[in-house]
Amino acid sequence: MKTNLLRRRFLSLLPAAGASLWFPRCEEKTGQAPVGIPAKVLVLGGGLAGLTAAYELMKMGIDVKLLEAQAKVGGRVRTLRQGFDEGQYAELGAVRIPNIHNHTLGYAAELGLDLCEFTPGEPLYYLKGNRFKHVEGAPWPLDLTPAEQAKGLGAMFDYAGPALGEIGSIADGTFPTAAALMKYDPITMTELFTQAGATEDWLRLMRADSGTIGDRISALAALGEFSLLGGWNKTSAIRGGNDQIPAGLALKLGDRVLLERVVKRIEHSSAGVKVYADHKGSSESSEATHLVIAIPFTLLRKVEIVPEFPADKMRAIREIGLLNAARAYVQTGTRFWEAEGLGGLNMVKTDTGVERVWDFSNIQDGPTGMLMAYLQGDNADAFAALPADRRRGALLGWIEPIFPEIKAETVAFHEHVWAEDPWAGGGWTALPPDQFWAFAVSRRVEGRVHFAGEHTSHEFGWMQGAIESGKRAVAEIAGA
Ligand SMILES: Cc1cc2nc3c(=O)[nH]c(=O)nc-3n(C[C@H](O)[C@H](O)[C@H](O)COP(=O)(O)OP(=O)(O)OC[C@H]3O[C@@H](n4cnc5c(N)ncnc54)[C@H](O)[C@@H]3O)c2cc1C
Repeated sequence: MKTNLLRRRFLSLLPAAGASLWFPRCEEKTGQAPVGIPAKVLVLGGGLAGLTAAYELMKMGIDVKLLEAQAKVGGRVRTLRQGFDEGQYAELGAVRIPNIHNHTLGYAAELGLDLCEFTPGEPLYYLKGNRFKHVEGAPWPLDLTPAEQAKGLGAMFDYAGPALGEIGSIADGTFPTAAALMKYDPITMTELFTQAGATEDWLRLMRADSGTIGDRISALAALGEFSLLGGWNKTSAIRGGNDQIPAGLALKLGDRVLLERVVKRIEHSSAGVKVYADHKGSSESSEATHLVIAIPFTLLRKVEIVPEFPADKMRAIREIGLLNAARAYVQTGTRFWEAEGLGGLNMVKTDTGVERVWDFSNIQDGPTGMLMAYLQGDNADAFAALPADRRRGALLGWIEPIFPEIKAETVAFHEHVWAEDPWAGGGWTALPPDQFWAFAVSRRVEGRVHFAGEHTSHEFGWMQGAIESGKRAVAEIAGA
């Protein structure tokens, strides 16, 4: 009932548009909608954001089509099932689903998917050439202040706590709550820690624990993200692979999803939109009353937009990038680290080029092991700068001082650098200093054009953000 009301409200707001080139009109397709009402939405991009928008529109009874460049949906949610023994698999993109991610968990439940939980494990550190497990109360083998020695990573609350207190929540729609907080925009998170008194060795510990993102992301953006992480105490994944979420949504959408359509040109006006896409060498066009653009700005900047959006939106499209991230999987003959009591996510935290090594085995069947190196920012760029045929050797070389048996144990290897991915152009959004102006501009509606994608969400860098943004775009259209 609610759905019908929403749909009627949506339809009543639409102007009559010209005939679609290849979309049947709503009433032609279903035989139910009032005659002559062109309720058509076109969604660009078959990642989680675009799929969400299309799926939620479909549930409201609205005629929707989705254009995706690749021969498969999912975008940065990509599960690799080939090339490993024992039926094991790798997640090249999204791995973790925090227990606080209601949108992601909601879709998992709606699609009937099982979850499996990661074991957190006790970390092993490899810092300044020392391999150690930290025992509560014992001194860290690092040059730290007495407070840092006593609190370890907990010193973060001394360094970032006052700023976090000022900031409020990024989700409340008014973030940041005071213009004065823009002082956190021109500096990186690492600079904020340094200004608050953090030592170089404490930063080393911080990078080993949480990745090197802090060296690139603005303090304002990082604090905003921190503000949403309260209550995260359990981490899961979809049993058998996270790509079952996009695959499940695509299955529900059926022939509304059109693959291998590379969008080349978008025309928009107050009457509607027209999109031109390349399909296996031929140009196709389609018209709709509303458009949801759910492709990252790294790729949208290659699409011709006629007329151009306002200058600040065009600037955001040109300038907002994705932080590089790389994942490298090493399948091993045995789970040899378990003899040492090691395992779980964040298993090894280092200050070397391999950054962090996670045990990706505990959610998988079979006796073989699966280690995953997760490199961000500078480390991902340095890894990417290596010729492809030297990457395996370099990565195993970084792991060898920590696990001398790694080369003998390796049975399969696969790496993926997201900056090299032609359909992503980077890993995820991490606004660098002086780009916070784009936070609101990115998602701003432009006439009949709506924007989705993790880069337009306050929960950037997560599947949760992609899904939230798709739902937000639908709410915008429904409540236009
Ligand atoms: C290394 C890495 C680790 C991550 N870890 C996690 C994690 O642990 N947990 C978590 O929740 N999230 C994680 N994420 C983030 C999560 O994967 C993303 O936030 C989310 O998948 C983004 O979805 P999206 O729809 O916004 O974009 P995308 O998935 O990038 O989808 C965009 C789609 O648009 C298509 N496209 C591009 N250009 C065109 C065009 N011209 N025409 C038509 N189609 C086009 C692309 O092919 C793609 O399918 C990670 C991401 C990466 C890369």
